Amino acid sequence: MSRTPETPARAELHAFLARYQRFLLTTHINPDGDAIGSEVAFARFLRAMGKTVRVLNDSPTPHAFGWLAADVPVEVYTEELAETCFSEADALIVLDTGNKQRIGRLADHLSRHAIAIAIVDHHATHDGFGKVNVIEPSCAAAAVLVYELMHEAGVPIDAMAADALYVGLATDTGHFRYSNTDARALRMAADLVGIGVDVAAVTARVHQTAPAGRLRFFGEALAALEMRHGGQLVVLEVSPEQFAKHGLMGADTEGLVDMPRVIEGVEAVALFSEVEPGKVKVSLRSTGRVGIDGVCSRWGGGGHVHAAGVQMRGSREQAKAKIIPDLERLLSELPPAPVVAGRGARA
Ligand code: 5GP
Ligand code: MN
Repeated sequence: MSRTPETPARAELHAFLARYQRFLLTTHINPDGDAIGSEVAFARFLRAMGKTVRVLNDSPTPHAFGWLAADVPVEVYTEELAETCFSEADALIVLDTGNKQRIGRLADHLSRHAIAIAIVDHHATHDGFGKVNVIEPSCAAAAVLVYELMHEAGVPIDAMAADALYVGLATDTGHFRYSNTDARALRMAADLVGIGVDVAAVTARVHQTAPAGRLRFFGEALAALEMRHGGQLVVLEVSPEQFAKHGLMGADTEGLVDMPRVIEGVEAVALFSEVEPGKVKVSLRSTGRVGIDGVCSRWGGGGHVHAAGVQMRGSREQAKAKIIPDLERLLSELPPAPVVAGRGARA
C-alpha cells in the first residue's frame, strides 16, 4: 500500500517517476556499497513499476559488490555506450551524490542531451543540479531514501532489493557503528532482515573478498601511522609505489581510513592516498565530536559531517600542508573529552 510522501520534493519525485518510461541511473565515481546498493534497489523499484532501466557508472563496480549486479547489469562508461544510454533514456536519476562533477565523465553528456534529471542523495554538500532534488542529509545512507520512496510508492521490496538496500545501509553506517546510525536506520535493518536478508551471508560477501596484498598494503600504511595533536589526530599516507608493489588501485584503500578510529582518544583520521604521482585523494573521518566536511569543501570536495573527501593535485606533502593545519585548528577548539568510565584520557 502506498503512503503520503514525507516532503514536497519526494512528491515531485513520485510524479517524475510516473511521467517518464525509460530511465538511466548513475552514481558517483569510485562507487561504494551505498552507491551500488541504491542503484540496484532503484532499478528493481523502477522495473516493478513497469519502467525500462539501465545503470551506467563512470567507474567499475568494486569486486565486493559485483554480486548485487547479477540481475541488474551495472555498466561501465565508454563514450559510445554513454551516447547510446543518454539518447535512449527520457530521464536520468543520480543516486548518492548531488554534485555534477562527481558523476565523472557522464557529466560531459548532460549538455548534449535534453534529459530530465532527478537526484536522490543524502550528502550535505551538493549543487542540486536536478529538476527534482530529493536530498536529505538526515538519512544515514542514500539507501534509506530509496527504501522509504519504495514504501511511499507501495512497491514491494523483493529479496534482491532487500540485499542491495542492506548493503547500502550497512556500509554507510560502518555496520551500525558510526554516528549516523539512528533509530530509523536500525528499524530499516530490522525490516530488511524480516524480508529475508541474511546478515552474516551478506556481510561475508561484502567483507571477505580482499586479496592478501591488500592486507599487506594496509599493514604498511598502518605501521607508519603518525599520531598528532596529542593523540587526537591520526595521519596515514600511501604512495604510488605502494599501490604498484601490491598491484592495487585507488578503491583498494576502502576501509583503511576507518581503522585508526579504534585508537583510544582519537578524534579525527586523515588519509593521503597518492594513486598516481601528483594526484592525492584525501579522506577524512571524525569519531563524532568534530565536523570535518568544511575542511574538504574548502578545497572543492565534500561529504558528510563525519566522513568527507577531496581530490588534490600536487604532492602528498603539499596536500598535508593544506589539510592538517585546518584539522588541528578544529581540534584546538574542542572542549575537553567527557570522561567515560573505563576510558582514561591518554595523550
Ligand atoms: P571517502 O573518504 O570514503 O572516499 O568518502 C567519504 C565521504 O566523502 C563520502 O560520502 C564521499 O561521497 C565524500 N567524498 C569523497 N571524496 C569527495 C570529493 O572529492 N568530493 C565530494 N563532494 N565528496 C567527496
Ligand atoms: Mn552514501
